[in-house]
Amino acid sequence: MPATLLEWSVPAAILLCAFGLCAARSVGFYTLQWGSALGCLGIGYTVMLVQATELSPYKQVVEDAFILGGVILACRALQNRRRRQTPYYIDIAVLLASTIMVIVSVVLFASAKLETFFVQAFCALVIWRTALSFAMQVATTSDKVLSAAFIFIALVLTGQCVLYITAPTPLLAVGEWRTSVWGTLIQYTGLLGSIVLTLAVFIATSCDRIEKYRRQAHTDALTGLLNRQGLDSLLAVVSRRALSDAATPTALIMADIDNFKRINDVFGHPFGDIVLARFGALLRPVAASHICAARLGGEEFLLLLPAANLDSAAAIAEEIRAKFVAQRWDPHAPSSRFTASMGVTLVQAGEPFSNAMKRADDLLYEAKRRGRNCTVSSVAPRDTALEVHVL
Ligand code: GH3
Ligand code: MG
Ligand code: MG
Repeated sequence: MPATLLEWSVPAAILLCAFGLCAARSVGFYTLQWGSALGCLGIGYTVMLVQATELSPYKQVVEDAFILGGVILACRALQNRRRRQTPYYIDIAVLLASTIMVIVSVVLFASAKLETFFVQAFCALVIWRTALSFAMQVATTSDKVLSAAFIFIALVLTGQCVLYITAPTPLLAVGEWRTSVWGTLIQYTGLLGSIVLTLAVFIATSCDRIEKYRRQAHTDALTGLLNRQGLDSLLAVVSRRALSDAATPTALIMADIDNFKRINDVFGHPFGDIVLARFGALLRPVAASHICAARLGGEEFLLLLPAANLDSAAAIAEEIRAKFVAQRWDPHAPSSRFTASMGVTLVQAGEPFSNAMKRADDLLYEAKRRGRNCTVSSVAPRDTALEVHVL
């Protein structure tokens, strides 16, 4: 019996999902690999509906290879997020093993039920293996969405395999299989899996995009450090109590490149940018160890050191200052030395963060007043600043 319009709607819907995912590439979504996986699956489901008068191993092999191939491609697309792919020879071996079982089922046992069972079992195995290893390394919301979709599909396929083994099936003549409840079940499982996967991929890709733009909006493009907006949103998350905890106070280092306007004027704005980027690079290794570094604007930077004391914070500030002075500026300014000034303080217990920022700024101003190229640190306002280090 030729396939009905309703039956054709299943591969059509799968291919439509594949088309949607491929087309999303044109608006910058990295969904081409997912689209080709569903395209492969859709072709398999299309071949399934091609009318055959007898159970032919050729048709079944092609149909099942496309279905399992689509599943393998989808698993590779998921693994691609971690840049850790299953070796090709394993996927080819799985495809070959499945093909052999399909041929055995059709040629030796003339059983469409057995053939379908094997393909479903291989699909379930491949998905379980990928889903479980991926679930152990989920890092983002989008990872969680995709992981949940894969586990859902794996569960549905496993349930179906169990049903195939346990439920009694009436003897069906060749050609009746597809239109039986079992054939219909396979088609609608494929459709359900494809829709769930497409939705999950679109949700995950959108989450990735939002996260990327959020990170861009919070990052200073020249130095790669947090910008003012990034710092504000970080401070909004970190509780005020954590910053001003008397037992583990947070230290602030306010840094400013000296006479930067003159650097711009003498060597040009692009060279000024190089100086800024280099200064930012000196802060980045420090920032890697739980310390937050931000470019507040222009040539002014802030370091936030959790659980620090004034002496260790001043020592870090001095280290950065000394490293900056030691920089060589060949070939643009071979004989030039540039300097920076630092203000260091602690967030006092219960003190608003803005107060401590103002004090760090005042201490920085004090360093400028004392001749620049030095670090002034104090827990008190600048008039009583105690520690002054000059190279
Ligand atoms: P002081 O030692 O007192 O800090 O003096 P200064 O010249 O460093 O400070 P001032 O605030 O007078 O000048 C800062 C200059 O930084 C002015 C501005 O043109 C320049 N600037 C701000 N943002 C950028 C940038 O992204 N790139 C470059 N090249 N220059 C910038
Ligand atoms: Mg300056
Ligand atoms: Mg400045």
